[in-house]
Amino acid sequence: MISDVDVVIAGAGPTGLLLAGDLARAGVSCAVFERRPGRSGLTRAFAVHARTLEQLDARGVADQLIASGTPVPALELFAGARLDFARLPSRFPYVLVSPQYETERVLEERARHLGAHISYGAQVTGLIQHPDGVEVTVRQDGQPGTVRADYVVGADGIHSTVRRALGIPFPGKPVVRSVMLADVLLTQPPPKALTVNATGDAFGLITPFGDGWYRVIAWDAHNQPPEDQPVGLAEVSDATRRALGTDYGMHDPRWISRFHSDERQVPHYREGRALLAGDAAHAHSPAGGQGMNTSIQDAANLGWKLAAAVRGWAPERMLDTYEAERHTVGRRVLRSSGALLRIGLTCPTALVPARNALVYAATRIPMTARFLAGALSGLSISYPAPHGAHPLTGRRVADLPLADGRRVYEALRGGRFLLASGPGAPLAEATSGYDDRVEPVTVARSSGTIALIRPDAYIAWAGGHATADHRPPDVRGALARWCGSAGESTVPAGQRH
Ligand SMILES: Cc1cc2nc3c(=O)[nH]c(=O)nc-3n(C[C@H](O)[C@H](O)[C@H](O)COP(=O)(O)OP(=O)(O)OC[C@H]3O[C@@H](n4cnc5c(N)ncnc54)[C@H](O)[C@@H]3O)c2cc1C
Repeated sequence: MISDVDVVIAGAGPTGLLLAGDLARAGVSCAVFERRPGRSGLTRAFAVHARTLEQLDARGVADQLIASGTPVPALELFAGARLDFARLPSRFPYVLVSPQYETERVLEERARHLGAHISYGAQVTGLIQHPDGVEVTVRQDGQPGTVRADYVVGADGIHSTVRRALGIPFPGKPVVRSVMLADVLLTQPPPKALTVNATGDAFGLITPFGDGWYRVIAWDAHNQPPEDQPVGLAEVSDATRRALGTDYGMHDPRWISRFHSDERQVPHYREGRALLAGDAAHAHSPAGGQGMNTSIQDAANLGWKLAAAVRGWAPERMLDTYEAERHTVGRRVLRSSGALLRIGLTCPTALVPARNALVYAATRIPMTARFLAGALSGLSISYPAPHGAHPLTGRRVADLPLADGRRVYEALRGGRFLLASGPGAPLAEATSGYDDRVEPVTVARSSGTIALIRPDAYIAWAGGHATADHRPPDVRGALARWCGSAGESTVPAGQRH
């Protein structure tokens, strides 16, 4: 077993795998310990939203995932309501239906290729924090061992051992019981990529994975046995018929399960040298397909900050901004997915006609439809900006074409900040001393704005070009605030321990 690394990650789900790839790309040594004996062939999440695809694009793996999934440009909801993603201002104006194991496969291949160590059959059992590092205990192949690291990240899901070892509470409550999941074959598949209805006392959803298998989610208010009671196909089929009018000839399930859904969030994402990300930090209803997407975006926010801390150039309190930014997003997702669940699944039967009329109206009014699509897709997420900052500060960066023929999200694949300016204002000199952290890029068409773009594709700082009556923007000040001191020696990868 590996004994000394920069970062230990507990859990090889989507969160741990994306994070491992980002750390390895930054030259930070990391070991991922996963208690499962091997890769999972089962899937929970099946919806990958536009903002997550953009994050995957900034890592060069979006196209690979899209090739194995089904893009769905609009969600056909109940009673004729339809939420359109086709106008999203993104290279990915749709929801990608793709089994979670495909996302994990793509992220694991990337992480291994970049040099991350990933061990299966290895369970994190506890940790001790010291002022200058952490000791993580791991049981692998039945043998206990200890790994020393600068930091540990609990990406070990809803029952997180890291969270428990830290004594961080996970307050909240269960919101829905006895939801049935099944992966089945269908003799009469529905024509639509997503078929869904909720009658008030029954819910049914069917969507194709693209490889012949279909995911069914079914719920029946009149059939609520205990969680541990095995579920049969007949139960899934009955609930589906009650919600959708037919079971589409479902047969030969390869997997059936019953689950309950909680709404929970930890009060803190960081405790000293330990951090929590993904389901370890927040749990909510699967309505809206937000869990994996939010978790991957936690990892994208954390990766470069943690790498900066390990490599020694992180400005003061940079790592704390992870909690400040992502706790707020997590809280909003808890609220919105809870609202969707109550509207879609547990709405009392008597209120169903009113609910249908409201949902129909909301999806027809352009402003509310845009708001809903922006929220579900994750494109409207932004981070707090200081008072008086340029209006672009904290916003997601658009995928603008660059003068050298690349797009912004292609340039981000290097894992560095981008300092973007127009053709008339080259900034190569402004970034001197920051070559390892910042790449100057020229956008093909200038708007007169200079922007410092974070590695996770949000705008750290922006300013206008110098004009006769304006002082030149303080690019060096912005670089110092976000990227540390110029020329500060960073610790070469692999020489820390
Ligand atoms: C029915 C259902 C449908 C869903 N649909 C969607 C959807 O459409 N879209 C969406 O975005 N999300 C969806 N989700 C949520 C999504 O599956 C999770 O949010 C996502 O898997 C979280 O990723 P993670 O990496 O944080 O945690 P996990 O995927 O849970 O991964 C944690 C990993 O840690 C491992 N582990 C646990 N303890 C230890 C330990 N002590 N040591 C080592 N390893 C450990 C586990 O084995 C696991 O592999 C759905 C969830 C459910 C239940």
